[in-house]
Amino acid sequence: MLVSAKEMLEKARDGHYAVGQFNINNLEWTKAILMTAEELKSPVILGVSEGAGKYMTGYKTVVGMVNGMLEELKITVPVALHLDHGSYEGALKCIEAGFSSVMFDGSHYPIEENVEKTTELVKICAEKGLSLEAEVGSIGGEEDGVVGMGEVADPAECKRIADLGVTMLAAGIGNIHGKYPENWPGLRFDALEAIKAQTGNMPLVLHGGTGIPEDMIKKAIDLGVAKINVNTECQLSFAAATREYIEAGKDLQGKGFDPRKLLAPGTEAIKATVKEKMELFGSIGKA
Ligand SMILES: [Zn+2]
Repeated sequence: MLVSAKEMLEKARDGHYAVGQFNINNLEWTKAILMTAEELKSPVILGVSEGAGKYMTGYKTVVGMVNGMLEELKITVPVALHLDHGSYEGALKCIEAGFSSVMFDGSHYPIEENVEKTTELVKICAEKGLSLEAEVGSIGGEEDGVVGMGEVADPAECKRIADLGVTMLAAGIGNIHGKYPENWPGLRFDALEAIKAQTGNMPLVLHGGTGIPEDMIKKAIDLGVAKINVNTECQLSFAAATREYIEAGKDLQGKGFDPRKLLAPGTEAIKATVKEKMELFGSIGKA
């Protein structure tokens, strides 16, 4: 059964590790992530962007697929199904469809409007026992056509949003989505410390987990990050393994064209990436 992300993130915060959010795109992604979490006894958050939800034909399909897998794969570890960078309307749709967690990304609104919409969702999520992630200070890079400026969040605005009663808070600290450019100056730990000082016990979320050096990830966890989002890295490992299979001509041998064979190396590559991240985040054995 899907659970809210609240308890797993509070445990992570208190235990000084982080839970990974791995975004899903299809059945192979979902299966790979769930099987790895179960094998390693790690809590896990499945992230779904609005674009990926649409790709999978809608949120109800996603909920049906994930709930089916939890049962058929006999998953015992805590799993949250979470909308990533949701609009207000998207969040309502996911809540209706059966997600156990949503992110409302109001970071592109003026702070007053972000506060107003987040407040409404806090009320709805509290009634239904769902976890809610809010965002302050947009995160750089490109995600589903939305390009952020990579700003650093204002700690006072973070406090305003955290005090509304959200479960977790994403705040820009120089992190960006997608691949990091060569000249990226690194995470702004001064900003993270200032935000932590203002938001107290609030589990913080680090977006754009692909390509941040390991020592920076570990330091961010030490400073209060309890959830780390990984998306691009699974896409890269899936694509590389699939390329290797085809370049080796394996799709042309026997029944190598069978999608169950063609997609298998990519699926295994996602498993390896998820395992690597869970080791780095320290969530193995914490379920
Ligand atoms: Zn993000």
